[in-house]
Amino acid sequence: MPRRIKSLRFRLTISYVLIFGLFLTAIGFTFRSRLMTIIQDRVEEAVDQDWSAARGFLRVERGQAIWQVDPREMDQTIFLERLRRFVMVADSQGEVLEMSNGYRLQGVESAREIQARFKEGSPRLVIKEQGKDRVLLRFGVFRSEGKLYLLGVGRRMTDVGGLPNAFMTDYFTALPLLLLLTFILGWFMAGRALMPVNRLAEAAQRISGSSLHLRIPQRYANDELDQLIVAFNKMMERLSENFEQIRRFSTDVSHELRTPLTGIRGQLEVALMTARSEEEFREAIVNALEDVDRISNIVRALLLLAQAETGQLALKQQPVNVTEVVEELVEQFRASAKEEGLRLNSELEPNVYIRGDRTQMDRLVTNLLANALKYTPRGGHVDVEVRMEGGNAVIKVADDGKGIPRESLPHIFDRFYRVPGEDPDKGLGLGLSFVNWIVKAHQGQMDVSSEVGRGTTFTIKLPANMEVPEAESSIRLAEARQ
Ligand code: ADP
Repeated sequence: MPRRIKSLRFRLTISYVLIFGLFLTAIGFTFRSRLMTIIQDRVEEAVDQDWSAARGFLRVERGQAIWQVDPREMDQTIFLERLRRFVMVADSQGEVLEMSNGYRLQGVESAREIQARFKEGSPRLVIKEQGKDRVLLRFGVFRSEGKLYLLGVGRRMTDVGGLPNAFMTDYFTALPLLLLLTFILGWFMAGRALMPVNRLAEAAQRISGSSLHLRIPQRYANDELDQLIVAFNKMMERLSENFEQIRRFSTDVSHELRTPLTGIRGQLEVALMTARSEEEFREAIVNALEDVDRISNIVRALLLLAQAETGQLALKQQPVNVTEVVEELVEQFRASAKEEGLRLNSELEPNVYIRGDRTQMDRLVTNLLANALKYTPRGGHVDVEVRMEGGNAVIKVADDGKGIPRESLPHIFDRFYRVPGEDPDKGLGLGLSFVNWIVKAHQGQMDVSSEVGRGTTFTIKLPANMEVPEAESSIRLAEARQ
């Protein structure tokens, strides 16, 4: 297993444990404070009840606090006994009438403080702390024999913290064990979640130049990892297509170059062995030069195509009068068409403009016209058309020549592709690759229809340039007036 994946698993588990730990600690503290509040409320309620009970037993007679219980009732006696552990009775001058030992230990108030308690009114709760001891006191004023007295009753609060603290001790002792369990669980879960990633990494490692067909099996879980696998497989598909293209290309190039090179070698060898006169040497050299020309043409065309396809060949963007380009080329080809016994007709709508590169437009039309003339036998005709159609400049080159077999149609734009059986001297098989690139570079579309024995039609649509240069538009106006 690669180390990086391992550490990712570890990091995931640790984050999981940390989050869980923080969460549990927060829960522990919240519980503790909630428990404290509940218990404190209970003590307050109880001390309140104690005060009322004490009040029921108490009466003041001639400056003396008297507790009155039915001596037959044992319960009452015991109850009063407990009540009187924290008790204090004082008059409105602050003079203490009774004070239990328990109360005294918690600290005695001065007469002034007692007087102040009178003013505070009742009921009033006070917590007194002495060392570890905490006592909750409830003060209240009562009337006896027409005078006001202060009664304070208390209860130990030490229990309030006891239970929550015991809870906290148990809870935080158990916490590390809980976190250890979380770690183990998290470790396995993270391992399971990362398994497909490991598989992906392993598959990626197995892939090399010769095993580009390898694909990672999909899990069909429809999750992020499946998306990753799909993206990865798609990338592999593109890579393998590109690889295949490059491989085919190198084979084609070596093949294309080998033929003329063998030709040159043969001619020169034969000349060396058999030629006697200067004339014969000359002939051999001329023949060899023809092949050298072919090689240079291939190399030049390939270089240009490579530059074009890697975006190094910058297109000039300017208004190009397509009608003019086609018209000039038709005129240029007319003589050779006549020589071949072909009729060359043109139907050109004036001033059809696009935005693009004039040189490339020239190349595009030249290739299409040259092909049409090359592959149409004597007596046939080639029709060229230029027109505007729905915002597009349309160039159409149709011939009634030999046509292209259906199975060859998808390949005619490939580099070096020639319809099988075609005379290799007729071309390099690169012309239509150029046409294809030029159309794409001008954001255009191309359509080919062909039938063997009936002919071929290439239709090219390029986005038209609506802003016609000023000089041209005045010519157009003049034409319209005529
Ligand atoms: P080439 O230089 O061989 O003409 P292209 O790339 O221009 O190469 O064309 C590729 C192949 O497509 C040609 O070899 C030919 O077989 C076929 N082809 C192209 N244009 C026509 C056409 N107008 N009629 C018949 N076949 C054609």
